[in-house]
Amino acid sequence: MSKHDFDLFVIGGGSGGVRAGRVAASLGKRVGIAEEYRFGGTCVIRGCVPKKLFVYASQFSEHFRDAAGFGWEVGATRFDWAKFIANKDKEIARLEGLYRKGLETNGAQIFESRAVLEGPHTVRILKNDRVVSAERILIATGGAPRHLRDVEGGDLTITSNEIFHLERQPESMVIDGAGYIGVEFACILAGLGTKVTLILRGEQILRGFDDDIRAALHNEMVRKGIDVLPHTRLTKVAGSPNGNRVVSLSNGSTLEVSQVMQAIGRLPNTEGLGLEKAGVHTGMDGSVLVDQYSRSNVPHVLAVGDVTNRVQLTPVAIHEAMCLIETEFRGNPTSPDHELIPTAVFSQPEIGTIGMTEAQAGLAYDAVTVFFTKFRPMKGTLSGSEERMVMKIIVDDASDRVVGVHILGPDAGEMIQALAIAIKMGATKADFDRTMALHPSAAEELVTLYTPSWRVKGGEKV
Ligand code: FAD
Repeated sequence: MSKHDFDLFVIGGGSGGVRAGRVAASLGKRVGIAEEYRFGGTCVIRGCVPKKLFVYASQFSEHFRDAAGFGWEVGATRFDWAKFIANKDKEIARLEGLYRKGLETNGAQIFESRAVLEGPHTVRILKNDRVVSAERILIATGGAPRHLRDVEGGDLTITSNEIFHLERQPESMVIDGAGYIGVEFACILAGLGTKVTLILRGEQILRGFDDDIRAALHNEMVRKGIDVLPHTRLTKVAGSPNGNRVVSLSNGSTLEVSQVMQAIGRLPNTEGLGLEKAGVHTGMDGSVLVDQYSRSNVPHVLAVGDVTNRVQLTPVAIHEAMCLIETEFRGNPTSPDHELIPTAVFSQPEIGTIGMTEAQAGLAYDAVTVFFTKFRPMKGTLSGSEERMVMKIIVDDASDRVVGVHILGPDAGEMIQALAIAIKMGATKADFDRTMALHPSAAEELVTLYTPSWRVKGGEKV
């Protein structure tokens, strides 16, 4: 019998922590898990899931417009923000219940409290000031939005944490930051009828994504009425008597809007966590530094998910947790595989992507061939929509392997998820070419792109 209260104590009841805690408990381990806010974590409570519900809500305005070309007469429409938020909250509460139930039915002990490290094997449960000991401790505290308060009036801005619970729909909004969260919310709010201004420090939205896709989405967003302002920063935010915000921008202009949201990235959630008391090393960004088995420099203190700042995505946190279970409790050392992670941006239109961008592939390989197409999806013919779909396949000339696929358009995320299996298996362009098309579909373009569009040699487009 272990001298500790628990075999595993998990700090953080989000995607990674709940998975590790539930599975360890199902293996008969004595598990404790502390959550300071709500079980389910960022993804379920104020991330992926409610965001996707917002995306669905926002798409109806376009569906209503498209309907006319197909002979439908849609009467007057109106979006009821309060009703949507209430329905969304009900669904989130249901999911939260499932997360708790999964832990409880497997025998994990739940602590509804903030927990901090007290020493290498001890955790303090703040709610009742109790100290418990554990053989292993898992840090799964996730990340938190960066919130710049040093901009004058920064306290008057919100982050993605608050956007899900606003009492009223903002009539107008400035979003600072054009990473995926900023871009997704710009599209969501615009779809719901909010006047959106998206400001970014750089030249182009979505740093790290393929340049052609970035440019095409930028154009679509502008076409939908979103003001995208490159090379722009917030310099000051002030309140106004009517509850609005008066925003000063680095380009010298001033805007009065209902809300300002900062979407400038997320930082690992380790502040005040007591890592130093356990002797755990962190990186410059506060992330817990881990080895290939998610072990910190103190081998029985483990960390998975956003708090390690490897790849900040839910399936990655869950995968890291499952690998940790294999390594720690099943005697089968397993490292998480971070290669070829399919990713979506739930913008409108949507992005689905896997593998290298053209720029990355151009540097990684001597020569690559790019197959590119831009077309109007079939639905757009009758609806009259101007929206274009973009697809791009990047192939390493030497091996014929498909090293990157990038799609902009309806259901791009769904397409990429299915395609990811083939790419992970090492599919070649010849494999794509001998795959039968499914007609009529947009995805059939992926297997009928026979003619190269351009090549990249030595990093240069030729
Ligand atoms: P989290 O899910 O953040 O869980 C950490 C938990 O720890 C939280 O519940 C927190 O309250 C708790 N906690 C923190 N400190 C303590 C403490 N000291 N004591 C007790 N509890 C503590 N990912 C995708 O894959 N797809 C998407 O579409 C997507 N969309 C997103 C949209 C938004 C707006 C945001 C913000 C994120 C999105 N993500 C998405 C990212 C995804 O939510 C995270 O990658 C994922 O939740 C990480 O899981 P985690 O277990 O590491 O941390």
